[in-house]
Amino acid sequence: MSANGAMPALSPPLPWLAAHTAALAAAHRRGRLPAALLIHEAPGVGGEWLALWAAQLALCTDAAAAPCAACTACRRVAALQHPDLTWMAPAEDSRQIRIEQVRDLTAELALTSHGGGYKVGIIAPADALNRFAANALLKTLEEPPARTLLALVATQPSRLPPTVLSRCQRLRLTQPTRAEALAWLAAARGTGDWNAVLDVLGEAPLLAAQADPGEVAEIGADARRTLDALAATAADPVAAAEHWTRSQLPLRLLCFENWLTERLRRSEREGAFLPELRAGPYLPGWGAFLNIRELFGLLEEVREFRTTLEVPLNRGLALEALFRRLVPSPRARSGVRQE
Ligand SMILES: [Zn+2]
Repeated sequence: MSANGAMPALSPPLPWLAAHTAALAAAHRRGRLPAALLIHEAPGVGGEWLALWAAQLALCTDAAAAPCAACTACRRVAALQHPDLTWMAPAEDSRQIRIEQVRDLTAELALTSHGGGYKVGIIAPADALNRFAANALLKTLEEPPARTLLALVATQPSRLPPTVLSRCQRLRLTQPTRAEALAWLAAARGTGDWNAVLDVLGEAPLLAAQADPGEVAEIGADARRTLDALAATAADPVAAAEHWTRSQLPLRLLCFENWLTERLRRSEREGAFLPELRAGPYLPGWGAFLNIRELFGLLEEVREFRTTLEVPLNRGLALEALFRRLVPSPRARSGVRQE
């Protein structure tokens, strides 16, 4: 989801963000809308949606009902065609937001607004700002022109300099419950097996809304089969990596993360979070060869791999190396046999 792709439709509203929208609307009524928001979200929870909603709030021409969603200004914001709204994302050929883009944005924000009201800038994903770009944003954050609203949407705000973070009001978005996500998806996309989609994607309804439910469920099941087989030494890491890199790799990697998270949770339930107290480094039950530390490490590496997919590297080899970590080493296997 980005300015280049499909935008989040502003209706139906996201009930799990109601506390944030109510607080922003109240601040706006008092004339105390913050100049800079940092919207911290998990992917697919609605950060971009909230940024656009805030842009409507600031630019709506119906002061009593802002955002009314019906006036020309609100409709232009929803279509990303309001002259006082700038949406900044990485250029198509890049993963980063560059300093030139920030300079253009700050120059635009310094101009008088077309509608005689606010100027709004949305930066999404803001964690794509490189160091120089983030520093170029500082001056605007320190001395924002009157009636300016900057909304930074980030899934990993820790990638931004503390000087930037400290000048934004942080909104931490919580994930919806499964019931809230299902109700919203049914309203937004109609009936479908959204439960199966969320099982694969996690509680990320805005990602789910863009997915083909049948395809996601199929890939989720296929990925789970592969990972179970790898962990049981019943699959070949080379062939599996080749299969995964051929299609839908980002989605499959998400499945990998969920599969690992599920196992971490299971280990937690089984009390295996005290591996030091155990005689051997092996877990009981499922895949006795992976201990907690290895699981966390692997989860971190899969996440890292998923965020670097656009960087030229041999994906097949990198993925194969991750798969091999699931396969018990001969030593570990002999250890299991001895138990
Ligand atoms: Zn309006």
